[in-house]
Amino acid sequence: MSIEKVVLAKPRGFCAGVVRAIDIVERALDYYPPPIYVFHEIVHNRYVVENLSKRNVVFVDSIEEIPDGSVCVFSAHGVSPQVVELAETKRLRVIDATCPLVTKVHLEAVRFSRDGYSMVLIGHPGHEEVEGTMGEAPMQLVSSVEDVEELEVPNAQRVMYLTQTTLSLDDVAEIIEALKRKFPSATSPAKDDICYATQNRQNAVKEMSQRVDVLLVVGSQNSSNSQRLREVSVVAGTPAYLVNDEDEINPEWLKGARTVGVTAGASAPEELVIRVLDHLRSMGATEFEEQPGEDENVHFALPQELSNPEKLMA
Ligand code: SF4
Repeated sequence: MSIEKVVLAKPRGFCAGVVRAIDIVERALDYYPPPIYVFHEIVHNRYVVENLSKRNVVFVDSIEEIPDGSVCVFSAHGVSPQVVELAETKRLRVIDATCPLVTKVHLEAVRFSRDGYSMVLIGHPGHEEVEGTMGEAPMQLVSSVEDVEELEVPNAQRVMYLTQTTLSLDDVAEIIEALKRKFPSATSPAKDDICYATQNRQNAVKEMSQRVDVLLVVGSQNSSNSQRLREVSVVAGTPAYLVNDEDEINPEWLKGARTVGVTAGASAPEELVIRVLDHLRSMGATEFEEQPGEDENVHFALPQELSNPEKLMA
């Protein structure tokens, strides 16, 4: 038995925050003399980062590594106020590529902490977005129901929870339930902060998992939303594998599969999806179909200094 059909998820791949972040670096390359420094990977995708590295973009994980006075782009995942301060002391010319949906969570953290809430963040320890958000206000991080069971807060009568934008909808629902059980006062500014792109891609995978024998998720290992797509499929009963590109596809995974699903995380370029489809064609797939899904029409404006090149050059 060999592969007959490939079903492509819709939506998949780049979200509005990633498009904006990459656009910001491209424009910075056009307008400023090289090199351009980027604090952390601009988005979590190996291919994107390697391509920009070849064009005089230098990725660093510490602001101290950047020479004073250089141009520095903050990645889509956002940074803490401490990083902003450090950049100021080094007189860096900062261009902020933080996704506006991450900024929204930062602003919520500041506002509700000022209002006296005990803040809880649902997220993954060590993720850059989590580090940035946690720098905004005193808060505690939980990533599982077990964490909630052990959680102590300063004011149990006033608990506000926020969420990392790229989590699994189902996992978060369980954690929120546990929080509300333990702290009946627990509330949040919105149902959760999981962004539209994460939700739409997970919903598409859930639907698709009923139709395919195996799912390939195009994305990098450190991409949170790509990892969640793989997990959503596995939980729904369909084996799924995360690959950077076609070279990482293990033929063993596809043995016995008639229908293969393909999706891509929010930071994975469509170019890589096409390469994966070509590879599946070379393995015998003849039928290709895009599953009907949500149309996305979300666009984020560029930071003001980049939409006005004259000001930029000043
Ligand atoms: S995944 Fe969501 S929060 Fe992250 S950059 Fe994309 S739109 Fe923004």
